[in-house]
Amino acid sequence: MMTTTHNLGFPRIGAQRELKFALERYWRGESDLAALEETAAELRRHHWQAQAERGIDLIPVGDFSLYDQVLDTAAMVGCVPPRFGWEGGVVDTDTMFRMARGQAPSGKPAHACEMTKWFDTNYHYIVPEFHADTRFSLAADTLFAQVREAQAQGHRVKPVLLGPLSFLWLGKSKSVGLDRLDLLDALIPVYGEILNRLAVLGVEWVQIDEPILVLDLPQPWRQAFESAYNRLQQRRLKLMLATYFGALEDNLQLACTLPVAGIHVDAVTAPGQLDLLVSHCPGYKVISAGIVDGRNVWRSDLDALLEVLTPLRERLGERLWLAPSCSLLHVPVDLDQEPELDDEIRGWLAFATQKLTELDTLRRALDDGLDGVAAELAAARVATESRRVSPRIHDPAVRQRCAGVDDDMTHRRSPYGERRRQQRALLKLPLFPTTTIGSFPQTDGIRASRRDFRQGSLDEARYVAAMKREIASCIEKQERIGLDVLVHGEPERNDMVEYFGEQLDGFAFTRHGWVQSYGSRCVKPPILYGDISRPRPMTVDWASYAQSLTQRPVKGMLTGPVTMLNWSFVRDDQPREQTALQLALAIRDEVRDLEAAGIRIIQIDEAALREKLPLRKAAWPRYLEWAVRAFRLCSSGVDDATQIHTHMCYSEFNDIIEAIAAMDSDVITIETSRSDMELLEAFVDFRYPNEIGPGVYDIHSPNVPTVAEMTVLLEKAAMLIPVERLWVNPDCGLKTRGWPEVTQALENMVAAARAMRQREGGRRVAS
Ligand code: GLN
Ligand code: ZN
Repeated sequence: MMTTTHNLGFPRIGAQRELKFALERYWRGESDLAALEETAAELRRHHWQAQAERGIDLIPVGDFSLYDQVLDTAAMVGCVPPRFGWEGGVVDTDTMFRMARGQAPSGKPAHACEMTKWFDTNYHYIVPEFHADTRFSLAADTLFAQVREAQAQGHRVKPVLLGPLSFLWLGKSKSVGLDRLDLLDALIPVYGEILNRLAVLGVEWVQIDEPILVLDLPQPWRQAFESAYNRLQQRRLKLMLATYFGALEDNLQLACTLPVAGIHVDAVTAPGQLDLLVSHCPGYKVISAGIVDGRNVWRSDLDALLEVLTPLRERLGERLWLAPSCSLLHVPVDLDQEPELDDEIRGWLAFATQKLTELDTLRRALDDGLDGVAAELAAARVATESRRVSPRIHDPAVRQRCAGVDDDMTHRRSPYGERRRQQRALLKLPLFPTTTIGSFPQTDGIRASRRDFRQGSLDEARYVAAMKREIASCIEKQERIGLDVLVHGEPERNDMVEYFGEQLDGFAFTRHGWVQSYGSRCVKPPILYGDISRPRPMTVDWASYAQSLTQRPVKGMLTGPVTMLNWSFVRDDQPREQTALQLALAIRDEVRDLEAAGIRIIQIDEAALREKLPLRKAAWPRYLEWAVRAFRLCSSGVDDATQIHTHMCYSEFNDIIEAIAAMDSDVITIETSRSDMELLEAFVDFRYPNEIGPGVYDIHSPNVPTVAEMTVLLEKAAMLIPVERLWVNPDCGLKTRGWPEVTQALENMVAAARAMRQREGGRRVAS
């Protein structure tokens, strides 16, 4: 008996980010399409070979993309919004790039399609647009060409398609009254044609991804699955229905009855569903166990996995397949590229390439017995054991501190009303106080200093002096602009998570651990491996230096525990909430040290709180509860007169407004300028009690907003929120912008605030 292994998708950006650089060269006009295609083909060849060499039986094809797999699907079914001027036939590469980026080397620029997060990951896909007159047709040969390409290289190929229901669900209807589900009938024949073409190519298995089966689905969508898959039955092909990122739960029965030859489930996020599936699935179906974590970087505990797999294998025989839990798109490519990681930490990790080897080891253990893989199992055992006991992971002092957290520590001394009285007396701010979100433009000079310091060509004293010059000039500019609450400008920070992670114990950093975020953009998430503690203050020197230069209050600037957690690879040996608690304690110490150093306004950014909301609504309350508690723990250690701000980079608060209020931050700044203040309504309906700074300056655009534009926004805000509780600020940090536009925009913003004060009769807020 032979166990089949397959992979759901491989990272496409390249171990050295080759695809990123090739794309950017092409977009800049420095190379032609042929050169880009050549790099892409080379990467595919290399990735297919790497998978085959590691013993993967069925090699995914169609997981590769020049930009995004959802965009590829839209192109394949001819779903191109009219503004891109596509007139039928094949959707060419530049049309796809224009959909993604608004422009390309050829073709007229047009407004780019929206981009949004792929489920609860940090990958962004291009949102398909559906219009009342959307027609579908087979409009790209790319998949078929790549299947032939892989076959010619001798691989057993498994094409990967985004399923029709997930495709429709992930898109947006752009015509009033158009229900995107109504398009299913027109879409299915195109999928039928795709499957026929694949069958002609001699393909046996096709992976069809329907990740929306792990969501709360409305009844009509569930019903649609049945009819759609009945129509997609194909005599010559077998479909492997792939689900990931969560449990099927109420969709399990549905998934089991669909006429497909196999089902893949994520046994990492939802281990319980393997057994359920085995008992509910008809005896002819293949069950693919997503057993190796495709979302995280830890080496698998192979003994534990074999304990799960061995009985399954006995029951299912060759009907059991092995795979990563989801596409490996979400992890870095190859651990062998990290010579700088110390051996102990490296021993705990597995990136995409190593995960495939783990699958092969598991397969060999199941097929040929444990003896043949004794060495591999022993090595995995050593890693598991080392993680279980390493003093670098387990710090008894941190544990003890966490155990001692009580309710008092998560509450400010007085309720908001009393704090507000004391803060007003201390800070004496005008009505409509103006401030910014933290960062100011990161100039070439700043970047060069940071780089030289890192590489050792700039010594610490000169680096500190350079940063202080930046801070001083930033303070001076803010004073000149007339802002009320100043910031130091964050010149010393490369990234809001990395900067803090590097100063905390329990974090490790990679050299090449890049993960695609969107298009050619990648992020390098820190690896949070152990108990977190703060050896020394992290920001106090910079903040106090800035405060020493001005009479106006300088706002301290920190990243919150939930955001640190959500933008890192986190440990899987304890619940996330426990890690959040540790982070919160470290940040709490920083908050108190800032206060002791005379910083009386402290902002704790929670940019990423919303994005890890669980996929199922039923799990929201628990997540929000511990996330809010972590925030309160880090922010509640200060005096009533010290003002806590938080910032969030979005404005959809309707469904989480209670949790936002429960954070009890004195001031919240949010992103609202593009939505015309409409999204403030959540705060109004809920009667949000504390102060709010709705962004009036869209920092994602190089345009300078006028005084009039911002005054209109403030007037709208003032109709919704009592003026005593309004702040005036941009949508987000300014680090990606240039000084000339920022200066002008902030001057206008200050003028708009002054106009509003005048309108209120120059009334100063009394206590
Ligand atoms: N303080 C950070 C900055 O201004 C906040 C960034 C963010 O919200 N993403 O850059
Ligand atoms: Zn922001």
